[in-house]
Amino acid sequence: MQVPLIDLKSQYSQIKPEINQAVQEVLSGGNFIGGSVVKEFESGFAKQSNVKHCVSVGNGTDALYIALETLGIKEGDEVITTATSWISTAFTISQTGATPVFVDIEPNTYTIDPSLIEAKITNRTKAIIPVHLYGQMADMKDIKSICDRHNLYCIEDAAQAHFSVKDDVTPGQLGDVAAFSFYPTKNLGAYGDAGCIVTNDEVLAEKCRSFSTYGDKGNSFGINSRLDTIQAAILQVKLKHVDEWIEKRIGHARLYDKLLKEVVQLVSPSVIENSRHTYYTYSIRCEDRDDLQAYLKAKGVTTAVHYATILPLLSTYESLNYASVDFPVAYKHQQETLSLPMYAELTVVQIEYVVNCIRDFYN
Ligand SMILES: *Cc1c(COP(=O)(O)O)cnc(C)c1O
Repeated sequence: MQVPLIDLKSQYSQIKPEINQAVQEVLSGGNFIGGSVVKEFESGFAKQSNVKHCVSVGNGTDALYIALETLGIKEGDEVITTATSWISTAFTISQTGATPVFVDIEPNTYTIDPSLIEAKITNRTKAIIPVHLYGQMADMKDIKSICDRHNLYCIEDAAQAHFSVKDDVTPGQLGDVAAFSFYPTKNLGAYGDAGCIVTNDEVLAEKCRSFSTYGDKGNSFGINSRLDTIQAAILQVKLKHVDEWIEKRIGHARLYDKLLKEVVQLVSPSVIENSRHTYYTYSIRCEDRDDLQAYLKAKGVTTAVHYATILPLLSTYESLNYASVDFPVAYKHQQETLSLPMYAELTVVQIEYVVNCIRDFYN
């Protein structure tokens, strides 16, 4: 049996008539940048995400960069973020000229540990970027109160957390802004690059829009980072289905949890009270990770390691002089983490097969 990590073809085959029609309408309309389709997607995504404003941009990395620039982050500033994330979280801080300052993660949720943040705040600190890793939200209430106490901006990296919830809070409600990616494999994915920024602050939304469309008529700098009309039309179709897909992912996670319970060599993702983990990935921590991954590959099961090197240990950040002992939890996680196949169309038979292969490996 073959079990891929994710299967975008089977998702497309379910929604093919709707997608084809939406794309066809854009092609016939002759409007390929902006227009009503983009506006409708922006307001639809904002509404479904319980935030007031959505500014669509070219990709999730640009969303972070535009947010940082719009908030005035610059050379000489420091921005605090988590040790465990995709490189974009740190690279966009560096792109502004500011310095990323990394904080270790919580052992249960793998998100930034709020209790370790204040020790890293200096008079240069301007902002915090929590990452809602794997679909699990960081502790926004604690992070927001730290930001308020120290007068810092909060930029949520929500690239993996469309429609995640924790303590009734969703991305973009407590932070100044939240940045989303619609990269094809994300829980809401385009058929190409796409992203957006959401915020409840109208002035900030307008500033982000201005920066993402060449700046303000030559009066201020900007870049060109827009959502294509075709991608907006595709996302608009998928927006109608995304909640059902997420519920299926949650169902698959519960089945994995149940079937993996007796396997003492691994730990399933924590289920946190009052939170909706949307399972962008189903990432376990396990013994003999690399051997297990190779074994599963030989059995036709594709897995992934998110992420093989924590951000402070990337060679690009060698000059910051971080060591693995500075991030004991994130470093252990780096060695043990493994993401199992996860997508809405996954079947019970496939999940049982994956779990049986894991059991066979440890036996
Ligand atoms: C995917 C991702 C990004 C970047 O999104 P792109 O659309 O690929 O630029 C940023 N941060 C995190 C945590 C991500 O997972």
